Amino acid sequence: MLSGVTRACAPIVLAFVTACSSKAMPHASPEAGALRPVVASPPTVAADAGTDAAVAASCVDDARPFDPATLRANLELLASPALDGRAPGTPGDVAARTLIAERFRCLGLVPAGDVRGDDTGYEQAFTAAGKPTANVIGYLRGATKPDEIIVVGAHHDHLGGGHLGANDNASGVAAVLAVAQSIRQRPEAPARTIAFVTFGGEEQGLLGSLHYVANPPAALPLARVVQYINIDMIGSHASTDAVHAFGAFAKQPARAILARLDDSFPTLNVGLGGHSVRGDQVGFCRRGIPYVFFWTPDNRCYHERCDTVDKLDLPHLAQIAELAGGLVDELARTSVDLVASKAKIGCFGR
Ligand SMILES: [Zn+2]
Repeated sequence: MLSGVTRACAPIVLAFVTACSSKAMPHASPEAGALRPVVASPPTVAADAGTDAAVAASCVDDARPFDPATLRANLELLASPALDGRAPGTPGDVAARTLIAERFRCLGLVPAGDVRGDDTGYEQAFTAAGKPTANVIGYLRGATKPDEIIVVGAHHDHLGGGHLGANDNASGVAAVLAVAQSIRQRPEAPARTIAFVTFGGEEQGLLGSLHYVANPPAALPLARVVQYINIDMIGSHASTDAVHAFGAFAKQPARAILARLDDSFPTLNVGLGGHSVRGDQVGFCRRGIPYVFFWTPDNRCYHERCDTVDKLDLPHLAQIAELAGGLVDELARTSVDLVASKAKIGCFGR
């Protein structure tokens, strides 16, 4: 069985690399690039992104990030039978992390994973139930408030063994990639630093995100993180006709932003506030970091083999990703004092 998986997976990894470095996303609609105005000059890439900046800009404008076709392309890769549900330590897990890191690289994100000699990679290694796996971490340095950090995260692992995890949580990873691309397509770099992280080992007990908060990258100290955004299972809005934005409590700066952005998405029913103790926000909240956790209940295929791409509510998934992207964008440049707000009300603030 293992050798079969290995054989199936190796070409997939190559396909990911080819897809990214050839500047084209497989299955993306042909008109996707043309419909989105191409920015004349890409946003300034942080100086510490090094000489790869020109290369890194290669996939910034290859698609409209929140177009359902763009999202579907990444969902089909991440939740493909070849990756077999991305269980930690499996070839499918490695392939998913490779896809994500390659996308981070060509979007020009600065790597913030493990340091080996003179090199910093995107992966932060850890062990999940005896199996080697990793988080994937990249960031864009803020132009004017680089010491204030917004972290955007989603877990990339799932159960494996025929459970493909399209909603849980290929949907969140595809959204994180879309948000990163949308931020890079803006004419100006964000004021605050934005870190993009995908976590491993979530299904085994939030292992990746707990490892992250216990071992934050040197470039991204937790004390400077003013907001965490978690995206997990956003592909089942139709199940209960709702999306939750847990953590958006009344006094949180994110609440007012979401309440306003919400008006642009009339078919989304957004529940603002409430606390969730399940999900990768837990470690951040324990450290007093405000969070917003986007989640749609799935009454049909949660942790079942029917959690496949064809079952996703893709139109609403795309809108939730765009709403999350709008929130990240506004939090990264708002004039509200996020440091003072965090110090005063921390993770809650009802
Ligand atoms: Zn999940």
